[in-house]
Amino acid sequence: MRALRLMDWNSEPELVDVPDPRPGPGQVVVRIGGAGACHSDLHLMHDFKAGQLPWEPPFTLGHENAGWVHELGDGVTGLTVGEPVAVYGPWGCGTCSRCRAGAETYCENLAAAPVPGGGGGLGLDGGMAEYLLVPAARHLVPLPDGLDPVTAAPLTDAALTSHHAVRRSWPKLPPGATALVIGVGGLGHMAVQILRATTAARIIAVDPRADALALARAADLTLTPDDDTADRVRAATGGRGADVVLDFVGSDATLALAARAVRTLGDLTIVGLGGGTLPVSFFGLPYEASVQTTYWGTRPELQEVLDLAARGLITPATTTFPLDRAVEAYRRLAAGDLTGRAVIVP
Ligand code: NAD
Ligand code: ZN
Ligand code: ZN
Repeated sequence: MRALRLMDWNSEPELVDVPDPRPGPGQVVVRIGGAGACHSDLHLMHDFKAGQLPWEPPFTLGHENAGWVHELGDGVTGLTVGEPVAVYGPWGCGTCSRCRAGAETYCENLAAAPVPGGGGGLGLDGGMAEYLLVPAARHLVPLPDGLDPVTAAPLTDAALTSHHAVRRSWPKLPPGATALVIGVGGLGHMAVQILRATTAARIIAVDPRADALALARAADLTLTPDDDTADRVRAATGGRGADVVLDFVGSDATLALAARAVRTLGDLTIVGLGGGTLPVSFFGLPYEASVQTTYWGTRPELQEVLDLAARGLITPATTTFPLDRAVEAYRRLAAGDLTGRAVIVP
């Protein structure tokens, strides 16, 4: 089969021929119906050196996957060949307390995981290929009626990561509270929809691109960033600031905005890997504002995201590309020339 592989750090991926995967005991091969192109893949291609991540190329990209069950390994029950499924992407040991709670992102027994802290497309072969080898049947979540793999693929990361970040701040988002979304790309446009669907908060979205802000239709206020953005957020919130700030960029500029826009007792959550630094000091942040990074989400949260999509409450905006145009999709993502999510359909 053909596969889009990251051959080395600091390089663009290559479309090469590899053997079709076959499932061992307990494993499942999925025929890919959609594989999302995440900005994290651009960081893999351009920003990391050998030794910075616990993974080594070559591996096939694509950590945001959905398709159809193609072949079952010995002993797999509860799945039927041809059934449409979403792939839960973080693959842990499966037996530690966090994995048993469905939070395989934070597996505590990395030595027993198929790859430390990653999954298919992050250290192991991912879904930018005709078939994906999934190491355990528990990673497959059947698609609810009405969801196709192209729509479901971005739900497994763009929406799941956003949902996890929003959900942990639900207690700070009662009616009357304000959430600020910085960066309305693949993740951020899902965050706006998830905030609308799961909270009664006011939503402010910031992005320099008019086409991106047009995707934030569910927001109450959209802003193009400039030197006064934080003041405009404060003006729109009675001087208080945003109860929850979700930074889907993570650059020096957006982290500085986040620090100036968050309110006392608020949450500042860094999701983007933009390489920026947030200086933390006594007067550098409002009192009792808490700062955290988040990574992906849990399997129960993936089920919630699929349910939200099946009910029509969230809908990823997708542009599809065939596998032989995947490199072009990534180039356009890097150039800021894609709105929503690019989904590769092999
Ligand atoms: P994307 O390229 O689709 O979207 C980024 C958006 O940010 C674009 O719309 C862009 O115009 C906007 N932007 C750029 N500079 C900005 C600024 N100064 N102010 C406001 N908006 C700005 O990327 P994506 O796939 O949505 O990923 C976003 C980030 O999240 C990436 O760094 C990615 O690696 C990271 N990510 C993190 C996780 C996690 O688990 N923490 C998961 C997936 C992706
Ligand atoms: Zn991703
Ligand atoms: Zn584990």
